[in-house]
Amino acid sequence: MLEDFKQWRDARRIDALGVTPRDWQLALGDWAVYLRYPPAEQERLQQLALHLLLHKRLQGIGELQLTDSMRLRIAGMAAVPVLNLGLEWYDRWKTILVYDGPFVAEHEWHDEFGVVHAERRALSGETMQSGPVVLSWQDVEHAGGATGVNVVLHELAHTLDMRWDGANGAPPLHADMHPVQWKHEFTRAWDYLQNRYQRGERLPVDDYALQDPAEFFAVLSEVFFEQPRRLFESLPGVYRQLQAFYRQNPLGVV
Ligand SMILES: [Zn+2]
Repeated sequence: MLEDFKQWRDARRIDALGVTPRDWQLALGDWAVYLRYPPAEQERLQQLALHLLLHKRLQGIGELQLTDSMRLRIAGMAAVPVLNLGLEWYDRWKTILVYDGPFVAEHEWHDEFGVVHAERRALSGETMQSGPVVLSWQDVEHAGGATGVNVVLHELAHTLDMRWDGANGAPPLHADMHPVQWKHEFTRAWDYLQNRYQRGERLPVDDYALQDPAEFFAVLSEVFFEQPRRLFESLPGVYRQLQAFYRQNPLGVV
């Protein structure tokens, strides 16, 4: 009964937003990933994105005022990884903070000798274990070209990874998946890319993937959605695992 009421209330609130097909076209019409979905799936993605806007907070930082179109673009991109999983997979975060461009983050960490190090570098996105997702609008704005790089997909993949046992490239798997198989395919792909990298060869994915297993999962997730053929042809075992995890097959029938 309460669920019915919540659904009814959400539907009313979504209607009240008055988002039109043209609004979606302006927000996501340049994004190859969105355009690849058939119309019925695009509609499902839109609905999920609107639910995300109802239940999460999107907040500009400093001078940045988020317009409705910016909100739709961020929410639309954010909805892709959970299109067949459901918004509950985003239950570990409530807020997306948006800077107008790359932002400087300060990090401290302790090394094995107990020394505290500080690091400052410009980031296009960041996700903390129990904090908000942080994005650079400039990077979101230019993420339409299916280049394999998409800061929204990247950071949200981290949040899925963090749902179980921290950011380590091992998100909670579905009951029909096998953790041993997951580990086997990702380790094999890691070794393969690491060997190529050490020989100075060009990699089929951004070198940043080799930072650590968490980045490996986030970068490969980006490529899975953005350039599925490239991932399937270079790392088919990983492609199959991500297909089972995201419950999507961006290549269609393969
Ligand atoms: Zn990352």
